[in-house]
Amino acid sequence: MPGGVSSPVRAFKSVGGQPIVFDRVKGPYAWDIDGNRFIDYIGSWGPAICGHAHPEVIEALHEALEKGTSFGAPCELENQLAEMVIEAVPSVEMIRFVNSGTEACMAVLRLMRAFTGRDKVIKFEGCYHGHADMFLVKAGSGVATLGLPDSPGVPRSTTANTLTAPYNDLEAVKELFAENPDAISGVILEPVVGNAGFITPEPGFLEGLRELTKENGALLVFDEVMTGFRISYGGAQARFGVTPDLTTMGKVIGGGLPVGAYGGRAEIMSMVAPAGPMYQAGTLSGNPLAMTAGIKTLELLKQEGTYERLEVTTKRLINGIMESAQGAGFPITGTSIGAMFGFYLCNGPVRNFEEAKSSDTDLFAKLHRGMLERGVYLAPSAFEAGFTSLAHTEDDIDATLKAFQDTFAVLK
Ligand SMILES: *Cc1c(COP(=O)(O)O)cnc(C)c1O
Repeated sequence: MPGGVSSPVRAFKSVGGQPIVFDRVKGPYAWDIDGNRFIDYIGSWGPAICGHAHPEVIEALHEALEKGTSFGAPCELENQLAEMVIEAVPSVEMIRFVNSGTEACMAVLRLMRAFTGRDKVIKFEGCYHGHADMFLVKAGSGVATLGLPDSPGVPRSTTANTLTAPYNDLEAVKELFAENPDAISGVILEPVVGNAGFITPEPGFLEGLRELTKENGALLVFDEVMTGFRISYGGAQARFGVTPDLTTMGKVIGGGLPVGAYGGRAEIMSMVAPAGPMYQAGTLSGNPLAMTAGIKTLELLKQEGTYERLEVTTKRLINGIMESAQGAGFPITGTSIGAMFGFYLCNGPVRNFEEAKSSDTDLFAKLHRGMLERGVYLAPSAFEAGFTSLAHTEDDIDATLKAFQDTFAVLK
């Protein structure tokens, strides 16, 4: 396996050392094959928002398993999960399930083009929309971590239609629209960026994009693969009150099994085959196991007070991290929304990817190592967000903050 991993973000290339091989996960913890326990702030990169291997999810999966793993035909569970997502996410009137976030983003781009009859798309520097060719331009996540420019193997002709702008920069988007009249199908973005560290939209940014796209006959697409059901039940669009035309999802809605989805206005979604002419398909899409994990996870999240609890836990964590860094004299800027957090080891504010790059990655590598030694598993990159779950207790947060304090003290 290249680099010993099935996905580059799991490697420890940017922090040094070898990736940890895990044996099992439960609640907020992960155990490696040597039996060491870690408090986990990756949560499988987002899905484990109820905690790993939640007993109710496992039980539901056992039951579903007995009925078979894949039908290759419609199953009732797809309808259930579809209804739950449509009810929760303001922009979604119709939905198509796929198997990953990458697939969802690939399909949504085709749909943007099919609906508008235009080929160009605007994305933002540091935003990650999966590994499809057209999006590997100034992408975040592993691309940013490993400092890959644009991946070899991506033909220039494929990315020629991908325009980029700095995040939080409405003027740049305005200029792109002016320079490319009637050619831009839409704007796609992470409404809160989790793949370039953690960057929040400045007041007016999302609203401004909504207006600009409307004025120019283009679509607004929120990639909520990471933020969906994580920064609020209805995602970033519910939290910020800005409704895009289309939305991509993944991670949480699969509850730890491979799921992606895209959805939006019925008028647009009706273009998807077989209702309409835009082709997109999948052998295992909407399979009963993945739907079951998703349904159970959303049921758990829907319970009263869950997001309030996640918000409080995560705030306490990020505030504690910043205090211990500052106490040791290190520059830091960070924040959290819902069950997502992030910090940069530099002076703030960080409003875009360019500013994020001033984070001290050498210091981060040392911090990462020190935290691992103290039993805390952070994303092995200065440019990934952190994730909390309902399973993280006060004691887990206390233990984590103690580890941060001790590590920063040693690094001083
Ligand atoms: C993770 C992620 C993707 C890609 O999803 P995969 O399931 O890894 O293919 C796309 N967009 C965003 C915002 C993501 O965080």
